[in-house]
Amino acid sequence: MIKDFNICEPTRIDSHETIKMYEIMRFMMPNNDFTQTQKENSLMDIIDNFDGFILDGFGVINIGNELIKGVIPFLNEVKRKNKHIFILTNGSTNPSVETAKKYINWKIPISKELVVSPRDALQQSLENFKDTKVFFIGKEVTPIKLNNLKVTNNIKDADLIVFLGSRIWNINDHDNLVNELIRKKRNIFVCNPDISAPHGKFFSPEPGYWSLKIMQDANLNEKFFHWYGKPYHPVFNFVKNKLDNYSKKNFKKKNIAMIGDTLHTDILGANAYGFSSILLTNYGLMKNMDIDRIIKNLKIYPSYIVGGY
Ligand SMILES: [Mg+2]
Repeated sequence: MIKDFNICEPTRIDSHETIKMYEIMRFMMPNNDFTQTQKENSLMDIIDNFDGFILDGFGVINIGNELIKGVIPFLNEVKRKNKHIFILTNGSTNPSVETAKKYINWKIPISKELVVSPRDALQQSLENFKDTKVFFIGKEVTPIKLNNLKVTNNIKDADLIVFLGSRIWNINDHDNLVNELIRKKRNIFVCNPDISAPHGKFFSPEPGYWSLKIMQDANLNEKFFHWYGKPYHPVFNFVKNKLDNYSKKNFKKKNIAMIGDTLHTDILGANAYGFSSILLTNYGLMKNMDIDRIIKNLKIYPSYIVGGY
């Protein structure tokens, strides 16, 4: 039960705490019935098994601000074989075209329209809202601009709360938000369900972490939370439609592989949606962990487990 769960301090987040927090939120996540997995040495070995690859950002392309070695040769090989590539990050602080600049600056062979985030899926659904006052979390984010939305910086005026990012968001901001939600309950749309992001020496708290804390501290029922990012369906739907439109094909979901470092977001989400899934174990959340035991305990089986590129 979330009510009784011991949420660690933001500075104490590590991979074990992250997995515990994902598990306490598991009842909200989509289900998957995969029970088998296969190990391969590297991603290069399984390129031919798929028509396209969707890569996660943190833990797959980069750790903190460092590009992971091997990403570029792998993507060049994928392109050479005429397979498709998308980058799907849960990071939603900025519009995807801005996020894309980071990857392009790193010389990753991808064009900006092939970088997507849950923010894109959310924007699409917000277009149907009528005259809504929105409070965007956190302080560093670029608000979503639509004619039917009014951005308010005063949470008291907001009809709707949208969680885009938490780089500049602390326990005082959290407490203010919680007090306001106790006064008046409101829906919260969460773009980024990630609990944490790996930075090499530490893990940063992400909107999934703060959302869990809001549920507990404001005693806010899960029905008030609407999730757009991995592992939830909206962003997978968005990327599948975009992939089909872009390539003018209707891909079999099984022939598209999501490459990720996190079982509860990338792998569970891909499995539940019908994509294949590839867990990368050398760099991100699962680095140095007892992968076989964890997979068995969590019952989240990637189609493939590979160390690196
Ligand atoms: Mg990741």
